[in-house]
Amino acid sequence: MEDCIFCQIAARKIPSKMVYEDDALFAFEDINPKAPVHILLIPKAHHASLNEVPDSESGLLGRLLMAARKIAGDKGIAAQGYRIVLNTARDSGQDVFHIHFHLLGGRRMTWPPG
Ligand code: AMP
Ligand code: ZN
Repeated sequence: MEDCIFCQIAARKIPSKMVYEDDALFAFEDINPKAPVHILLIPKAHHASLNEVPDSESGLLGRLLMAARKIAGDKGIAAQGYRIVLNTARDSGQDVFHIHFHLLGGRRMTWPPG
């Protein structure tokens, strides 16, 4: 997906502050952080949103969550807590149509979300 900004970030064609990478995943700091810790986790493969992830790729979702847990530990916020957000399609406010988990932490979150 040559016109996808997150594909280009995963391919390092656009710079980012990378915090984690493996064969299938890439994680980097959000450019407009909403909390002291705000990391985006993406699969290197392009899927526009959760709605487009095929059943055969469900393992990718578990890997993204486990990577988010690891990063939360590395950032020192595992015990105090953190929030993982997966915006999906219009009503959620999804802006970038390459599936991504937000890992947010380092401050007290409120509920319900806006
Ligand atoms: P969403 O609204 O769930 O689609 O979130 C998209 C997120 O991507 C927002 O939090 C943006 O701040 C973030 N974002 C957009 N472009 C970049 C970029 N080039 N590097 C890092 N984060 C970005
Ligand atoms: Zn993409």
